Amino acid sequence: MPFKAVRADKTEAGQDVRFVQMEESELMDGDVTIRVSDSTVNYKDGLALSGKSAVIRRFPMILGIDLAGVVETSSHSGFAPGDEVILNGFGLSETHFGGYAEKARVKGDWLVKAPQGLSRREAMAIGTAGYTAMLCVMALERHGMTPAAGPVLVTGAAGGVGSTAISLLADKGWKVIASTGRGSEADYLKSLGASEIVDRATLSAPGKPLGKELWAAAVDSVGSTTLANVLAQTRYGGAVSACGLAGGMDLPATVAPFILRSVALLGVDSVQRPMPDRLEAWRRLASDLDRAKLAAITHTIPFDQVFEAGRKILKGEIRGRVVVTIG
Ligand code: NDP
Repeated sequence: MPFKAVRADKTEAGQDVRFVQMEESELMDGDVTIRVSDSTVNYKDGLALSGKSAVIRRFPMILGIDLAGVVETSSHSGFAPGDEVILNGFGLSETHFGGYAEKARVKGDWLVKAPQGLSRREAMAIGTAGYTAMLCVMALERHGMTPAAGPVLVTGAAGGVGSTAISLLADKGWKVIASTGRGSEADYLKSLGASEIVDRATLSAPGKPLGKELWAAAVDSVGSTTLANVLAQTRYGGAVSACGLAGGMDLPATVAPFILRSVALLGVDSVQRPMPDRLEAWRRLASDLDRAKLAAITHTIPFDQVFEAGRKILKGEIRGRVVVTIG
C-alpha cells in the first residue's frame, strides 16, 4: 500500500521538499515497522521543511524528528505488533527517514514504549522540545540545584522547550522568571507557572562580563548574546542548561561567570542521548507534567498543514507545541 510522506530530494538548485507517495519497499533498513499516528513540529523541523537548512545529511530524506505510532511488524526482541511506541532524535530527518510519513521502519534500539498514562498524542505534544526541557531540568538537578537556591530563568519562554520547562519547574516549586519577546503571551506564561516576565530585549543586546546576580539557574533555548547575558547574571554557584540556538549559534561570552562565580554551563543534547536518560526523562514527563497545562500549550493540525507550521515556527509565531495528525 502506498503511503504519504514529506520527502526532501536534492536538486541542482538545492532541495525540493514536498508531499509524495511512497512504497514500503522504499523505507530504510530497520527491525521494526511502525504505523505512524502522530508527529510534531519542532524548530529543527521548521528548518528542514524550509528546504534551506543543513539539518538533512542524506537524500532523499523523509522529514520529522519525532514520531509516535503502533508497531506493525518487528524482529526486535523488545517490541511486538500492537505496541505503542515513540521515537525522537537518533538521526530521524537527518540520516534516517523520519516521522512525517504514514509508515516508518527504524531500529528497535531507538524506540521507547509509550509511557503508561501518556497517549501517543500527548507524547507528541511533548515531543523533542518537551523531552529536551525535561533533560534541561534533570541537568540542573544533577548539578545539585533546587528551588531553595533562588529563581530560575527560562528563555524562549513561549516556545516549545520554554513552555514545557516553565510548567515542569514551577510545579517542582521553582520561582520561574520567563523571558519572552511576546509580551502579549504574559497571561499564558503565568498560567503555566511563571511568576515574573522579562522582555527578551533586556538580554539580547551585548552586556557586561558580569552583571547583577538575578537568578540561580536557567534553561536557555536561545543561545548567542542572550546566553552570554544569562551567564553573566547567574548567581554565585548557579547553573545554566543550554540546549538551543533560536537566537544564534555563537556565544559571545567571557569566562568571568565561570572563574569568578563558579557558574556552570551544562550542555544538553537530546538527539544522541543514551537510553537510560531517555527512559528517565519520559517516565518523569509522564508522572510530573501537568496534563491540563500540556493541553493548554498544545494545538493539533492535520498533516497537510505541516509546511505552514514550519514557516511559523521559524518566525517565532508558534506558541507552545504543535501535534501533527499523520495517520
Ligand atoms: P520554538 O520556536 O518553539 O521556541 C523558540 C523560542 O525562542 C521562540 O518561541 C521565541 O520565544 C524565542 N526566539 C525565537 N527567535 C529568537 C531570537 N532571534 N532571539 C531571542 N529569542 C528568540 O523552538 P523549540 O522550543 O522547539 O526549540 C528551541 C531551541 O532549542 C531551538 O534552537 C532548537 O533547535 C533547540 N533544541 C535543541 C535540542 C537539543 O537536542 N539540544 C532539542 C530541541 C530543541 P519568545 O517568543 O517567548 O521570545
